[in-house]
Amino acid sequence: MSDRMDRDDEDRKEQTPEKKEGDASTTANAGKSDNSEYEDVCFVCRRPESKAGRMFKLPNHICVCDDCMHKTMETVSQFDYQGMLNNPDVQKEMDEFSRKNGFPSISFVNLADLQGDGGIPNKQKIKRKKQKEQGQPALDIRNIPAPHKIKASLDEYVVGQEHAKKVISVAVYNHYKRVATNSMDSIEIEKSNMLMIGPTGCGKTYLVKTLARLLDVPLAIADATSLTEAGYIGDDIESVVSKLLAAADNDVERAEQGIIFIDEIDKIAKKKETHSRDVSGESVQQGMLKLLEGAEVEVPVGANSKNAMVPLATVNTRNILFICGGAFPDLEDIIKERLSKSASIGFGAELKDKYDKDKTILSKVTVEDIRKFGMIPEFIGRLPIIFTLEGLNKEMMVKILKEPKNAILKQYQKLLELDEVRLLFTDEALEAIAEKAMKRDTGARALRSIIEEFMLDIMYEIPKDDNIGTVTITREYIEGTGGPIIDIRSNLIGDASALQ
Ligand code: ADP
Repeated sequence: MSDRMDRDDEDRKEQTPEKKEGDASTTANAGKSDNSEYEDVCFVCRRPESKAGRMFKLPNHICVCDDCMHKTMETVSQFDYQGMLNNPDVQKEMDEFSRKNGFPSISFVNLADLQGDGGIPNKQKIKRKKQKEQGQPALDIRNIPAPHKIKASLDEYVVGQEHAKKVISVAVYNHYKRVATNSMDSIEIEKSNMLMIGPTGCGKTYLVKTLARLLDVPLAIADATSLTEAGYIGDDIESVVSKLLAAADNDVERAEQGIIFIDEIDKIAKKKETHSRDVSGESVQQGMLKLLEGAEVEVPVGANSKNAMVPLATVNTRNILFICGGAFPDLEDIIKERLSKSASIGFGAELKDKYDKDKTILSKVTVEDIRKFGMIPEFIGRLPIIFTLEGLNKEMMVKILKEPKNAILKQYQKLLELDEVRLLFTDEALEAIAEKAMKRDTGARALRSIIEEFMLDIMYEIPKDDNIGTVTITREYIEGTGGPIIDIRSNLIGDASALQ
């Protein structure tokens, strides 16, 4: 009896590798055809296919490398599961499993259970690095639009901010020219990282978002306030690169040419009087230095923390464009102080008065002012392009409402058009909205919330009545002293009382 069992065991040992080979070849080919851009990662040792070699594909998208599979098989063959096999229930279940999957019955650990539903998600795989074509840079220089073209495209979306758009267009053009030519050997062209200064809601984030969309590069937006030095509670600094990798669909090559926007950068200014360790201020600035300059960073793929279950990818930040933005409150006072000091003694008070009225004072900012604000010199040094955005005035707000390609009004007009209703705004109504927004002091961000408040009634009432042809929003309606003008399809002026 025991003799027979031994032989059985021998047979099983011999059979298993054969079966395995067959499985590997068929599934490897199948994998290649449907998902060849992504590398598989070994479920056990976490090494990608490029390092660990060909993978065995198990059900639920689980891949195991050759080494780990061998080790598993060895363990399995030593494992005394005879007792289990004698149990008819267990045996039935295992037979069912092998029939379904064409794989030996080793289902004593159900790998799918470990993974939750669906096995390894695709987002945890690393995209294969494409074979570099000889002499063909990833971003063709001829495809990078000239600065004036970049600005013209930005003009379609971003209102005003002429200086900022100009600076950013030139910087981006130079940056991608540098990336494309890759001429780091003889004359090293400096990286065009930028620092944007402007009040809240004036379009800093919007400008960067629009730019990334136009250039079709991945963009990661992070908030400096959430970043802390590695090891403390919060996101560590390298998590921004991880975000970018996710935005690039885990394609390392694409991520390496992306843009990282770090908002609220002024919040990580050096604290003036600290007795404790400054983990979210100066040390974050310190920690960002190597990223800004260019470093190889190991980031987790498909997750935001490094742990044993997540594969790592190496991303080089040398060609990643970093744009930092912040409102820098009180910076105006620092500039004013410097300007009045530099003028001759005695005229101080008079000059201060003059500068107080100067609306463009922020544009006179120097590196020294920013250093005084609390940014460390090494940090500012890695952001060679510094520019300011102006606060929005009423005229700009009105333009933002109606002019950009995806203006808020156009969006609502489109929505109502689907119900075959025309939506119109009188000029006075637009001014009233802009005035209301100016009072809130949150820049253009207030516009949408104001419009949403009064459009709610319109969007609720209009579909009720098929006869409505045109709705005209008036200043009175915005100010709450009247209603919109409703035109019935036959062009009769209707009563708008329903909407008040
Ligand atoms: P912040 O400067 O605080 O980053 P945002 O860029 O987030 O401000 O602006 C908020 C919103 O206001 C944007 O989503 C955009 O719709 C609108 N906006 C702000 N400034 C402009 C502008 N100059 N042109 C067009 N839209 C703008």
